[in-house]
Amino acid sequence: MQPELDVVIVGAGFGGMGAAIELKRQGLDNIAILEREDDLGGTWHVNHYPGLAVDIASVTYSYSFEPNPYWSRLFAPGAELKRYAHHVADKYDLKRHMEFGTLVEAASWDPDDQLWRVRTGDGSERTARYLVTATGFLSQPHVPEFPGIKNFTGTILHTAAWKDGFDFTGKKVAVIGTGATAVQLIPEIAARADSLTVFQRTAIWVVPKIDFAIPAVVQQLFRRIPLTQRAARLVNSSLLELLMVFGVLHFKQVKPGNRLAARLAKAHLRSQIDDPELRRELTPDYDFGCKRPTFSNTYFASFAKPNVTLETSGIARLEADAILAADGTRTEIDTLVLATGFNLWDVNFPAFDIVGRDGRNLGKFWRENRFQAYEGVTVPKFPNLLSLNSPYSYSGLSYFTTIEGQMKHIARLFGELRRRGQHTFEVTEAANDAFLDEVTDRLQSSVFYNGDCSTSRSYYFNQHGEATLLRPASTLRTLREMNSFPLRDYEFS
Ligand code: NAP
Repeated sequence: MQPELDVVIVGAGFGGMGAAIELKRQGLDNIAILEREDDLGGTWHVNHYPGLAVDIASVTYSYSFEPNPYWSRLFAPGAELKRYAHHVADKYDLKRHMEFGTLVEAASWDPDDQLWRVRTGDGSERTARYLVTATGFLSQPHVPEFPGIKNFTGTILHTAAWKDGFDFTGKKVAVIGTGATAVQLIPEIAARADSLTVFQRTAIWVVPKIDFAIPAVVQQLFRRIPLTQRAARLVNSSLLELLMVFGVLHFKQVKPGNRLAARLAKAHLRSQIDDPELRRELTPDYDFGCKRPTFSNTYFASFAKPNVTLETSGIARLEADAILAADGTRTEIDTLVLATGFNLWDVNFPAFDIVGRDGRNLGKFWRENRFQAYEGVTVPKFPNLLSLNSPYSYSGLSYFTTIEGQMKHIARLFGELRRRGQHTFEVTEAANDAFLDEVTDRLQSSVFYNGDCSTSRSYYFNQHGEATLLRPASTLRTLREMNSFPLRDYEFS
């Protein structure tokens, strides 16, 4: 039987779009991009809370082959990323492949017909030679079951399901969570709400954000002489890379780099908060880099405002019109904001049921064995599957480094298939084992295993306490390896 499609790509964010661009370059055009949301853009479509912006400068946080000279700021607001996603989809003719409001529920490998059977929410089935999952890392919102939350009669907003235009003026608000999202959102709420109580379980490292509007003359320079924007990208990416490689991955060898970043964050806190007790509460008790650090010039300053209170004793329960802290403090509220992040390790990895050869279930395999994927892309017994949001796939530099590395991997793999005139690939168990050993080994120098991360509650760690999200390699090394992995690591048929 011939499949209906060459490729099913699940997810129309920057990952799925990058994969589609590369697969089209490889000559595959019969592609369906299935997306559960009603528009493209992934994270940048789903998230639209006030204050949303990139936290990797835009010259770096974009496809290197599709620079946008018109970013309004060094750290572009979220809405510009959504517009950029539309621009990319138009330019690379991706929209005709996209099907919105299509939830993929399951996929299974059919060994007889050598194709993937993909079941969608309406009960129908699509067949494809290749399956690409690009469902994101931070795509399944985490909504904790706080005691009494069902009795709360006010408004509840999760940051990933925002009500546009919601007006905080005069509101009595509680925010739960102090992750990267809350760091962007809290100053916005603090500026408007009557009162704001922030429930912090784990403090976060925050360093100053050097951000400014990009003048029109610079935009024109970037447009007319693209080399200038490439140079800006190179400088910014190199600085981030130094922080990542020396501050996080080689913590064991270069502790001072990490300590310097922590000192910078502490000085930043001191410059904005006078009260030593408040400073103590806002200071993390784990090493810099255990958890994703953030950038903000206004987050700490928000806690110095008279209408803002930091609550660190924990949450006891919610009542119809109040939230009770574990220390007994009762705070009347009419709006509850859940900045409680995403669930990676329980309900993602993978985002839906995937069954490969010999009945191997990907989620079960990852949970019962170690989380693993060869080069962060492929898994033994899953022929013709490219799982873009896999363990060890995420480059610490930027999501775009991740996807561009994966595009190189796709190009090499499909180039070989074409050369051989074959249609099926599968990574060998031996290559996968060797890759897992190598990344496990390389991670031993990182802050995750040498630093003090025990209290960080970081999503970089899975439920077994292993740091299996980041690929422990420099960007240059990742790109080189994606471009040159031994072809014997795959079996082709
Ligand atoms: P997050 O980093 O996972 O933070 C979730 C917050 O909610 C944490 O402070 C967590 O506390 C708290 N929380 C969760 N469950 C709780 C509970 N039961 N009780 C009390 N507190 C609870 O999620 P996020 O802030 O949405 O950020 C996720 C990631 O998105 C970031 O790390 C970043 O990679 C990305 N992001 C990027 C941008 C950007 O500009 N590009 C902006 C925002 C976010 P604990 O720490 O104690 O668990």
